[in-house]
Formats: sequence, structure tokens, C-alpha cells
Amino acid sequence: MFLGMKDSMADELRAHRIDDRLAGLLDSAQAHLQVHQPERAIAIWEEMIRAGGEEGDWGFLEYADHLLGIGKGEEATAHLVSLMLGRRFSGEPWRLAAELLEERGDLETALLFFSAAVSHLPRARSGEPPWARQVRAGRRRLRWAMGIPLDDNDLLGDIGVSESDDKWFDLLRLMGEPEVVEGRLHFWPRGDFEYAWRLWSAQIAATTADEYYRKIELVLRTHGGGRPVLVPRGVRGWMAGVDAINEVRSMGELRAFASRLDDGRTVEWPPERGQPCWCGSGTAYEECCGQSGALVGAAPG
Ligand SMILES: [Zn+2]
Repeated sequence: MFLGMKDSMADELRAHRIDDRLAGLLDSAQAHLQVHQPERAIAIWEEMIRAGGEEGDWGFLEYADHLLGIGKGEEATAHLVSLMLGRRFSGEPWRLAAELLEERGDLETALLFFSAAVSHLPRARSGEPPWARQVRAGRRRLRWAMGIPLDDNDLLGDIGVSESDDKWFDLLRLMGEPEVVEGRLHFWPRGDFEYAWRLWSAQIAATTADEYYRKIELVLRTHGGGRPVLVPRGVRGWMAGVDAINEVRSMGELRAFASRLDDGRTVEWPPERGQPCWCGSGTAYEECCGQSGALVGAAPG
């Protein structure tokens, strides 16, 4: 039935919710498809749609799934939208329709379905149907993927794998690429660099510690608009606080979250003559990152 989710969907049908007559109709439509008689399958779905009720919902859903499978995306979407607009509320098919659209990459329409289903949920969480978790999670997942800040409703949903991955990816990017944000540059100090690099080498924009600090020095020297403040990170504090990432609702919050993971120390740049280098080497700045030749080999970007 559903491309790529055939087995799980078939299991869902047989497991519960669907009575024997409905399951029988769905099975015979599928049997016709298997022997390349789509017109017979379509006749069954159309019959189901005419019957209305739960049977009609499944008719819309199956017909749309078939149309998507043969590349008639617009027709399929029209079917799914009429499922949503023209019929009584029936949460389960709406959720499946949303997931179908999501799988096909039509995130905007999918979000419409998830949001509509969420808006029909009862106010008291105790009275929620079993699919409530999934529609909440779906709405949350899509809003994150589309860059829409999450709201309170979304935070009730379970965090999805892809959203979680997205946040991690963005966070790793924030910590790997040295950049001045609001006058501050967060970086791994010498003492933590090795460890951080072992954990997140793919995200850190350098292959050696020396290259990493040369890059930062270059960013600092070429930064216009006031002297940046340096904020050393600590891997340990980072590891301890990072679980709270699930609460992050937007990219702006992610930036703030990333800076909360630091231990709050700041380092002036450039250090005064004779003072230890900002990078944490313990050597004087002018003999370390501040050397006149220190930037050789540090290409911007
Ligand atoms: Zn240094």
C-alpha cells in the first residue's frame, strides 16, 4: 500500500481500528493493484469515498497514496485536501495523510494537516486519543525543519530524530566555525582542543590546533567594529549541559544556548605585552598567536 511503509501500514490496519469490512475492501483494492488492474482498485476507493465516514477517509487516503506512487502529486494532494476539508474530523487518517505528504517532501501541506489535527485535540491531555503524540511530534518536527520557531504545543510533542539531528548539526557548526557573534567569539582553549577535536573533528574548521588558533587570530584581527571578547569553552561543561538542547525552539535560542554551555570566563584580546596568550598556551601572546608571522598559512574561510 504505502510505498516504503507497506509493512508497517498493513500491520496498523490489521492490528486495530479497522473493522473486517474495511480491511477487506482495502485488501481487495491492493490485490487489484498487484495484478496491474488499477482501474478496479480506483473503483473500490471511489465506492468507499461515496460511503463516507471512516471508510471514506481511508478511500481518500489510499487513492491519494496510489496517485503519489504514479507521480500524480497534484491530484493526490487535491484528494488529501478534500479529505481534510470536506469531511468530519477523523484524526488518524489526517495524521497518515500528513506523513504521506511529508515523505513526499510536501512539507507545507503536511504541516497544514498536522496543525489542523493538533487544533482538534481535546483541551485536557487526559482525554487525548492515542495518535495525539504523533501529530504533536509531526507538527514539531516540520516546524523545526522549516525554521518556524516552536511554540508551547510543540514542546508537548516528542522530539523527532531529524529535528534532533538538525539541532545537533547547527550546534556543532556554531562551535566549530570561529566567528564573532555580538562581539564575542567562543572557542576551544588549548587544554580542551585535543578532546573536542577527537569528538567533533568533522565540525571543527581546522586539522591541527595551530591551524585552529591561526584561523581565530585572523578572524580577530580582521574583525571590524570594536574589540571582540573571547570566551573559552569547556568540554566538560558542554557535555553536562547539552541534554537541554531539546528545549531549544529556534536558531536564535540555539546561539544563546551554545553560549550558556561555556563557563562564563572571558579573555581580552589582544592581551597586553608580556601577558599569556589568549589561546591558553601559557606563552606570551607576542611569542604565540601574536607573532608577526603567525598568520602565515591561515587562509581566510
Ligand atoms: Zn596563542
